[in-house]
Amino acid sequence: MWLQVSVLYLSCLVLTSQSQGDDRASLRRSNNHNGKCQYTFTVASPEESSCLGGSAGPEMEGVLSRLTLLEALVSRLVAGGEEGDSGTRVGSNSEEGLQEAYSQVTAERDQLQKHTEQLNIQLQELQKRLEELSQEAETLRQTPCQQRQTSGKVQHEGSQRPANDPAYAAYQEMKAEVTEVPASHLIPDESHNFTGCGELVSVGEPVLHRKADGITGKYGVWLQDPEPQGSQYTNRTVWRIDTVGKDVRQLFAYEDMEQFSRGFPMKVLVLPEPVESTGATLYRSSFYYQRRRSRTLIRYDLASESLASRLDLPHAGFQGQHPYSWGGYTDIDLAVDEQGLWAIYSTNKAKGAIVISQLDPESLEVRRTWQTNIRKHTVANAFMVCGRLYTVASYTAPNTTINHVFDTATGEGRAISVPLKNKYRYNSMVDYNHSQRKLYAWDNFHMVTYDIRLGRVSHGSS
Ligand code: CA
Repeated sequence: MWLQVSVLYLSCLVLTSQSQGDDRASLRRSNNHNGKCQYTFTVASPEESSCLGGSAGPEMEGVLSRLTLLEALVSRLVAGGEEGDSGTRVGSNSEEGLQEAYSQVTAERDQLQKHTEQLNIQLQELQKRLEELSQEAETLRQTPCQQRQTSGKVQHEGSQRPANDPAYAAYQEMKAEVTEVPASHLIPDESHNFTGCGELVSVGEPVLHRKADGITGKYGVWLQDPEPQGSQYTNRTVWRIDTVGKDVRQLFAYEDMEQFSRGFPMKVLVLPEPVESTGATLYRSSFYYQRRRSRTLIRYDLASESLASRLDLPHAGFQGQHPYSWGGYTDIDLAVDEQGLWAIYSTNKAKGAIVISQLDPESLEVRRTWQTNIRKHTVANAFMVCGRLYTVASYTAPNTTINHVFDTATGEGRAISVPLKNKYRYNSMVDYNHSQRKLYAWDNFHMVTYDIRLGRVSHGSS
């Protein structure tokens, strides 16, 4: 009964409150944060103007729900963090791997550097030794042959052979006396207008015209025709053939020295037979060369671009039988001078001494032959000037000499010493051009010329 009275009173109170405008009580129905329907009864305090020290239920609930959400987020983040941690572990694993690989590479690099240093030291030692040997060889070459002769016995090339050895006696018979002629016996070209034939007095500094680009340019032949005739080519045309390789057939033509220096050929001729070594030459619009692995000489006509003559050089050694000191199958060296076409070579009969033959430029037949006492394998190269043969002492020594001359007019030879520079230290070809009065050389990728001076020979006192 008391309860019924109380509820009735409350109901009246609610109705009264509702009739009091702003202070009226209200009943609100809404979903809570869990989605459940919730009824909220609100009534304003008649005395308190604000909830001092109190806490608002719905706000608290809002805060709590937000906290829950935040907790959920935090736990997810923590989980993510842990995942992140494990990712970091993976990362650290791969980092460790990288570091290991890096230290391995570093160790290998260090080892390689050490190895390179060792190789460099070895290379320097070898270069030093090579230089010493070259100098030694040159000194030996410049020693007159008579000093090696002793009574009853003859010393030759460090080996002792009895004078009654028939082979050696034949060699000695062939060998001419070599006498050193002082430089004062040569009258140099004082007027600077001396254009006639004479003996070599001096060789100028090497003048660089072109450096080969590729590995095939290590050695080769380059020339100008001293007497072009009957073709579209002139004495300004430059010819070049790189002779590194087994099937050397390409002959490059350049309009002039400028185009040659720039490396722009105007034509490439393909030779009918491969070229051997660096002994080829040019004369009267024909290209002369030794056919590979043979003693066959070939004349290739530049105008018609065809094989004009082909003939074996009798008894000539080839393929390394009698090369120059450089080797490289330099058995047959063709040369041109004021007097025509020459072959410089050796035969078994001459036992390695240089033989010179003058050739018919049309047919390639031998006109006349001379034998010298110069052992071909002891000299680096040779060329002809005014019917005289000159030999180069060394192909590597930067300061070498032209150490022998043999005059075909008298059939006599002697030692001389005209300085020549192998600036690039690997001189594989030296040839004379009488129209330009220059030596043409191929020195370790570098194509150079040397001016030369000739002088009259004094035939006075000897
Ligand atoms: Ca030569």
